[in-house]
Amino acid sequence: MPAYALRVVRALEGAGFEAWVVGGFVRDALMGGAGHDVDVTTSAPWQQTARVLRAAGIEVHETGAQHGTVTAVVDGLPVETTTYRVEGAYSDMRHPDVVRFVEDVREDLARRDFTVNAMAYHPERGLLDPYGGQEDLGRGVIRAVGEPRRRFEEDALRVLRAVRFACRLGFTIEPATREALVACAPELAGIAHERIGQEMDGILASGRVAWALRHEFEVLAAAIPELAPMRGFDQKSPYHAYDVLEHTARVCAGAEEFTGGFAPRALRWAALLHDVAKPACWSVDEGGRGHFFGHPEEGARMAGEVMGRLAIERSTVREAQAIIRLHDLPIHPTVRSIRRMLAKLEGACPGRGEALAHALIDLKRSDAVGKAPKCMGYAAELDAMERVLRAEIARGAVCAIGDLKVNGADVMRERGIEPGPGVGMVLRSLLDAVLADELPNDREALLAELRYR
Ligand code: ATP
Ligand code: MG
Repeated sequence: MPAYALRVVRALEGAGFEAWVVGGFVRDALMGGAGHDVDVTTSAPWQQTARVLRAAGIEVHETGAQHGTVTAVVDGLPVETTTYRVEGAYSDMRHPDVVRFVEDVREDLARRDFTVNAMAYHPERGLLDPYGGQEDLGRGVIRAVGEPRRRFEEDALRVLRAVRFACRLGFTIEPATREALVACAPELAGIAHERIGQEMDGILASGRVAWALRHEFEVLAAAIPELAPMRGFDQKSPYHAYDVLEHTARVCAGAEEFTGGFAPRALRWAALLHDVAKPACWSVDEGGRGHFFGHPEEGARMAGEVMGRLAIERSTVREAQAIIRLHDLPIHPTVRSIRRMLAKLEGACPGRGEALAHALIDLKRSDAVGKAPKCMGYAAELDAMERVLRAEIARGAVCAIGDLKVNGADVMRERGIEPGPGVGMVLRSLLDAVLADELPNDREALLAELRYR
């Protein structure tokens, strides 16, 4: 238990209250992981908590007083300190209508969602684990505290939290909890979109969304209804050995593999949603073969809709859309093709062209290995593209007007024109010439072009 958190516990107990470390910190510490914020639960009412901690020289912020929470800051680190409480009825399935403060820490643990989150620890009294959380950590299962059905009915977000914790810890969901999960998944429709967005982001950040797609699809499809048609959608194409759902799971897993588990956020979202429009764009030709004309563009549009609704950060949405839009575009391992790709990405997300080019190649590579075995050769071609891309970047790749070795002032001086849209048009034409490899991005060459044309 870290010294800074111990100061909070000691201060409260020195004043005659009881205090424990609780929740995620205890769970992660028992798993051997560190780095989780410390939450403290205490018998002290929040006004007393604030008074006692301030008297001990600790900074206190009254962050969630109506729910009994204050944030203590010790050595610059926050310790959320909450009064023992239980939650009343959830008439809207979102917020507890009331919280009721209680005397006994065991009652506080009983209101918590999963056994692995319902343990408290104290340096002298040891581990308090009334629901078998430690055993479930050992077995690798997520199990609801109490009657699963009732707990999910109280707060349907717990359905998605179960999947997030399973992904994050690499656990499975205990069968009775899972049965209730599937039964209650439709209730996610009543949960605030941004809370769903946060949990989905957490599931993607775990790097294990492929597992969730394969094993807990009911929950993901309830969280994002646009995913539902992917299951069982037969692509009727010689390029696809799997339905859209299994293909998507393979692409999500591939994105993690190719990035060593550090896939950027936009790539993770793009992998999940890159083919989301396939069912809507499907047609079949006279030979009985399936086609998906326009699915990258429509997929980018749908991704914008889904991610916007879930209140995902705007920049992440735009980046995911940019790579979804280009995921099917043929790219060749030539300077010209790579420069075009960079310019398109830079145009969609200024300043992010290079990073997105790597993400797009990782998406295409994952897409290739997630199709039929005969498409895997394309993955090797992508390695060649990656080499060209690296060489371009090392050489100081040009993808935007700002990368040119001449600027607006040069244009006005050499051409004798006034500031205005004409300057931008000239720069744009120089950029196009450089991208097409007709001119080098060399200051003298560009100035000469301005002078003599
Ligand atoms: P994380 O590392 O994701 O923050 P955490 O365990 O700290 O994991 P939080 O969402 O921060 O999870 O919540 C802190 C604790 O509060 C949880 O461990 C759990 O005991 C309890 N809790 C949080 N949300 C709920 C909920 N919706 N229903 C029941 N208990 C909850
Ligand atoms: Mg937390």
